Amino acid sequence: MGELISAKHLKKYFNVGSGTLHAVDDVNFSINEGETLGVVGESGCGKSTLGRVLIHLLESTEGQIIYKGKDITKVKRKELHALRKEMQIIFQDPFSSLNPRMTIYQTIAEPMKISGEFSAKQIDEAVMGIMDTVGLAKRLVNAYPHELDGGRRQRIGIARALVMNPKFVVCDEPVSALDVSIQAQIINLLLDIQEKNSLTYLFITHDLMVVKYISTKIMVMYLGQVVEFTGNEELFANPRHPYTKALLSAVPVPDIHCPQERIMMEGEITSPIDPKPGCRFAARCKEATDKCRQETPRLTEVSSGHFVACHLCKIDSKV
Ligand code: SF4
Ligand code: MG
Repeated sequence: MGELISAKHLKKYFNVGSGTLHAVDDVNFSINEGETLGVVGESGCGKSTLGRVLIHLLESTEGQIIYKGKDITKVKRKELHALRKEMQIIFQDPFSSLNPRMTIYQTIAEPMKISGEFSAKQIDEAVMGIMDTVGLAKRLVNAYPHELDGGRRQRIGIARALVMNPKFVVCDEPVSALDVSIQAQIINLLLDIQEKNSLTYLFITHDLMVVKYISTKIMVMYLGQVVEFTGNEELFANPRHPYTKALLSAVPVPDIHCPQERIMMEGEITSPIDPKPGCRFAARCKEATDKCRQETPRLTEVSSGHFVACHLCKIDSKV
């Protein structure tokens, strides 16, 4: 399948009182149709900002977003309207992202009503159809969010995102607020729907087990920048960036006879406000050298399809 969306030198900066916050700082990647790009990193690394910039909920500061071969960073209002239908978002917290005064029917129907392009009958059919797809009993249409548990509320959030038949969906920590027992159900639901509707996902999470389960490719972010980007299996089998290695070492291994050593990240997190040149991970990296503190490492292909931004990472001879 071909590329659906890509980012080229994408930046999102915010002016804050004390300077400029580099939330997304020169990010590059591409996602093919039907794939899931998992984005991992600690909170504050820019994952959610990136997701919002990609679907135009936030305006980018610089760079390009190529969607179906066209740069959409400069589209006019009318085109934006059409794009909105194709690009949707599922939020982290189903408790706060639903309007408590709207019934389930009203919530799911809202994007179709706002678009003004559908008859009452079409909306009715679409709402009932999507309720079925996400596994919500039809008798719940007149219920209010507070009458439902967390898993069902997230199903409503998913239904609302999918009712317009999007192509690209940003899933921003969609299971983090749910009980572990419900998480698997929602993830499997997202995978089923993806297959049925040929959806492409950007899946944001801080949970490495979730990202391993759902992603085709994985991008690791640290303070607004991509530090590692490769296929799912490759990342877990052969992590190359010190930050990725530290993250992976914190995931519990099932084999107690083969305990892995947890790599602790000490040192202070560098400020993302007016960052100085040099590797942003240097303050926490045990392998940091003087070069690391002076020169920003560039994301480089170190083996086929495996990109890393680290001065100490050797490039395979075949690349
Ligand atoms: Fe560590 Fe240097 Fe690599 Fe940054 S560039 S991750 S400081 S070794
Ligand atoms: Mg977030």
